[in-house]
Amino acid sequence: MEARCVRPAPRFRCLAAIAVVLVPFLTGASYRTTNFVVEASSVEVAKSVAEHAEVCRATIAKQWLGKELNAWGAPCPIRVKLTRGEAGGLTSFGFHRGRVSDQNMTVEGRLDRILASALPHEVTHTIFAAYFGGPMPRWADEGASLLSEDLRERQRHDRIADDLLLRRSDMPLARLFKVEEYPNDLMSFYGQGYSISRFLVEMGGRPRFLKFVNDGLRTSWDTATRTHYGLADVRELDRAWRSWHKVVARSAPKTDRVVVRAQSSTESE
Ligand SMILES: [Zn+2]
Repeated sequence: MEARCVRPAPRFRCLAAIAVVLVPFLTGASYRTTNFVVEASSVEVAKSVAEHAEVCRATIAKQWLGKELNAWGAPCPIRVKLTRGEAGGLTSFGFHRGRVSDQNMTVEGRLDRILASALPHEVTHTIFAAYFGGPMPRWADEGASLLSEDLRERQRHDRIADDLLLRRSDMPLARLFKVEEYPNDLMSFYGQGYSISRFLVEMGGRPRFLKFVNDGLRTSWDTATRTHYGLADVRELDRAWRSWHKVVARSAPKTDRVVVRAQSSTESE
């Protein structure tokens, strides 16, 4: 079984940009820590990414699971592509008998943005994959991984969700929870997934969120909503989220709204 977690990557605007990205791999370097082996354009970059990935792995596992993960049997490979743009990433997993059998990560962008947003995001996917031992619902996997990013990215996704609701382009939660493949409009999907994940985490904390998602997958989302959040069903949760969002949106800055455009999933991989 395979799953892939995609974080929208910076757009390459011309072939020249791609050539610039690929050249460093011809003279690349690698750095190994206990749980990661990083390939990058220089040892310094590989070392900073590997060491930060270890810090993220320990910190984020404690936040979500209450404890660190045991060391992996094999290090997770990370390929780093330095560009001048914003950061993006992609992590692929293989699962076998309820466990992660292999994982592979790519991050790209400016180094400071990789360390602040893409790397913590992708490492969060590895924590969730270890917890679930199989694919996590897309909205929760992406939405909750965004919670690990820096304030700038989290505020950006708050604005995306705000615009979605203003335009009434969001999905009812009952539908969002059942999305299995990335939709064409990735940015909107991430924005809404982030907003509902943030709402649920603010209501009940991170460990409860994971139990809710686990139960939602195994039983039903209505039952999981009643059990973990004391609301009658997903429709009531949907109403509660919208009310909460209006308060959040009202207190957020109204300038610099994000224009949400449809985009194809292939652009982001
Ligand atoms: Zn992701």
